[in-house]
Amino acid sequence: MDASAETVSNRLLAWYDAHGRSLPWRSPPGTPPPDPYRVWLSEVMLQQTTTAAVAPYYTRFLTRWPSVQALAGADDAEVMAAWAGLGYYARARNLLACAREVAARGGRFPDTEAELRALPGLGAYTAAAVAAIAFGRRAAVVDANVERVAARLYALADPLPQGRAAIRARVEALTPHARPGDFAQAMMDLGATLCTPRAPRCAACPVSDLCAGRRAGAERFPVKAARKARPVRQGQAYWIVRDGSVWLVTRAARGMLGGMRALPDDGWAAGADGSAVAPLAGPWTGAGTVRHSFSHFDLELQLMLYSGDDCPRLDATGEWWPLDRLDCAGLPTLFVKAARLALAQAADLGE
Ligand code: SF4
Repeated sequence: MDASAETVSNRLLAWYDAHGRSLPWRSPPGTPPPDPYRVWLSEVMLQQTTTAAVAPYYTRFLTRWPSVQALAGADDAEVMAAWAGLGYYARARNLLACAREVAARGGRFPDTEAELRALPGLGAYTAAAVAAIAFGRRAAVVDANVERVAARLYALADPLPQGRAAIRARVEALTPHARPGDFAQAMMDLGATLCTPRAPRCAACPVSDLCAGRRAGAERFPVKAARKARPVRQGQAYWIVRDGSVWLVTRAARGMLGGMRALPDDGWAAGADGSAVAPLAGPWTGAGTVRHSFSHFDLELQLMLYSGDDCPRLDATGEWWPLDRLDCAGLPTLFVKAARLALAQAADLGE
């Protein structure tokens, strides 16, 4: 490590000791690392998700499944329901697959980045984070916060995503042999608390005198390629109620929101972007449109209420679910929004 990289990492570690965030899945600086199960669980949950959103889910999961063996033995539907609302549901399916693989190896996570990377659902970021934080391995941990800090520190002007290789090389060079896990968390915390996307607080930053990005205008970095407009997909979902219960289905295991309970729908997940929604004949009433953003498209989901007998859209995959227990169904956010819309309409009509 060159002298300036060593200065940066030493200052960041000292700053982390004094100002690092206290989070439920962390050990305080200078204490033994947390159980790898906890590090892994938190890092999977934190992919694309904020610490504030993750904290209650993490606590609930740990209470219910306190070890990787306990999680491996859980019922798939229970885990999917417990994950409901956290989004990116492929993570929950991979979480179970990974827990089962680790349990089959005697309940011990492998302790190298390469072996961790071979587990289900562990990409480059998660494998590096678990290796560094749980096992003290020197690994370059690069999430969005770390990416921003490194791009600013060195004023790296190549637009993302092409610029990622140069950012990773800088983070690798900065990562110390001692305390690599604390260093990774220091970079994450600097990005989350001081080196924020807007209005970074450079005056409080421990490396401000070494930061090339600060001199060049910090908010310019990282430079991002122009975004393409997001496609908008359209579809329908069906609200079918009988005797105080609503008809819910379990979605196919593979695909969008796979394995989750949901309202029946017209298969928008497989539909062409921008395709028109066919009108429904019979006793159907439009209740409004729910808008929801997925990672690669926005969805406009028209909610249709059924008011006849023997709805033709009931099929063998479904179940009648009591409306007064709908909170316990584990619906993903899209269908929670749809259910709220339907219930608000029913309340307006005095039903
Ligand atoms: Fe970020 Fe400012 Fe610190 Fe540079 S000086 S790393 S831009 S907070």
